[in-house]
Amino acid sequence: MIDQLQYEGIAGIDFDFVPYEEKKIFLHCCCGPCAALPTKMLQDAGIDCTLYYYNPNIHPYQEFQHRLESFRLLAETRQMPYLIDDRYTIEEFLQMALEKGGNRCEGCYRIRLEEAARVAKEQGCDFYTTSLLISPYQRHDVIKEQGEAIGKKLGIPFFYFDFRPYFRQGQALAREMGLYMQKYCGCILSERDRYEKKKKS
Ligand code: SF4
Repeated sequence: MIDQLQYEGIAGIDFDFVPYEEKKIFLHCCCGPCAALPTKMLQDAGIDCTLYYYNPNIHPYQEFQHRLESFRLLAETRQMPYLIDDRYTIEEFLQMALEKGGNRCEGCYRIRLEEAARVAKEQGCDFYTTSLLISPYQRHDVIKEQGEAIGKKLGIPFFYFDFRPYFRQGQALAREMGLYMQKYCGCILSERDRYEKKKKS
């Protein structure tokens, strides 16, 4: 039986593990650094967790490869089972981004969450979730809403936890582990914005 007193892995995290005892969680990882803390927390709690990489939104291709290798390093360091889907379906992503304009992030979450939920179910997991929930730079409420709606549609519940207060701790953990720390969210538009913002400030 896991109880909160047993959880001392990361200071200050208040999480009720009891509903997840003996359950399997499928964790979509948007990148190694964002997954560093959620993986530690779930592992320390003794929760059975499989990691998954599917991020065809990353631009350019070499960046996609760097992030994938960073994910692999994380999974192997944690000694957690993992799956990698390295399809680089950038045309489909770009078409969606152009059609959606300012709402492209919604489509970007959907592409990844739908695939994560589908594979989680195939793998016989009880819940699925995403490391996107740790980033203060993402549209957190949209991720939660979409995660729950997709889970309902595909018949696998979405594990929700607000990891955002621990974002800095997670980044520090990632640095300690030697993970590649990216400088922009992922798509070509976010890479452009990184430089545009610098020019304006
Ligand atoms: S900014 Fe990030 S979340 Fe939004 S579309 Fe680009 S890669 Fe996806």
